Amino acid sequence: MPLGIDVGGTKIAYGEVENGKIIWKKQIPTPQTAENIIDALADIIENYTGDSIGIGIPGQVKDGVVLFTPNIPLTGINLAHTLHNQTGKHIYVENDANAFLIAEARWGAAKGYKHIIGITLGTGIGGAIMLNGQIWQGAHGAGAEFGHMAVMEDGPMCGCGSRGCIEAIASPRSIEKWAEVEKNNGMPTAMEHISMVDIMKLKDTDTLAKIAYDRFVRYIGMAVANLANIFDPEAIVFGGSGVLSWEIWQKDAYAIYNRRVLPSLKGKIPWLKAHFSNNAGIIGAAALAV
Ligand SMILES: [Zn+2]
Repeated sequence: MPLGIDVGGTKIAYGEVENGKIIWKKQIPTPQTAENIIDALADIIENYTGDSIGIGIPGQVKDGVVLFTPNIPLTGINLAHTLHNQTGKHIYVENDANAFLIAEARWGAAKGYKHIIGITLGTGIGGAIMLNGQIWQGAHGAGAEFGHMAVMEDGPMCGCGSRGCIEAIASPRSIEKWAEVEKNNGMPTAMEHISMVDIMKLKDTDTLAKIAYDRFVRYIGMAVANLANIFDPEAIVFGGSGVLSWEIWQKDAYAIYNRRVLPSLKGKIPWLKAHFSNNAGIIGAAALAV
């Protein structure tokens, strides 16, 4: 059974996975330095008796090298090679959105498709492209960074250094931040603390919730239409915390998308809700090693 290791900014979660099901899992806090993270990963790997190991990293990864990861001190480290030297085992290291899409294609909602776009909606917006059953990493490991599609000139600053990226406008976290500013500017609302959950719940009755909700579905619909028009995939699969309220927003975002997508694609590309939510990071990482 493969071992999946999901390295996050605050915790490292890991476990063994059989046919898309978690057999057991554990977690530890993410250490503060690269050396300690590598030691912790080597410990986990050495305590595992098998030799199918996948690691998901929230950042750009190319051929086992972590090229850039903003929240974990692993940038520039050849993680696959370093861990191989320490443990003697072969280890697959991938971007976590790519791992998510591989898991959904192998065991989840996108099973049976070969040309798939994956989108994760959470703190940021992650992306993955699978063509002919293969993940497209890009020439520099930065393929499928959909979150950094620029959709608004002079829009909000993005963590990447640019402005108006879809991630800085319409990720659930960005919508919450935007709504907080609007609330402080006097926009009427009953929401005491702004959260995406409340925005979804109150969208039909609360002025600010409605405007924030509209902003979310308009920008997601537009951005996904761009992707459909570029890639013409068989299906688009959505994951991350944003799909917890999928049943509320999917139809409205799809309606906007369907107005913008090319006539030849209208109604042709299904939007799928990720099968894996809890443990998606571990299952995705394990899928790398199957
Ligand atoms: Zn950006």
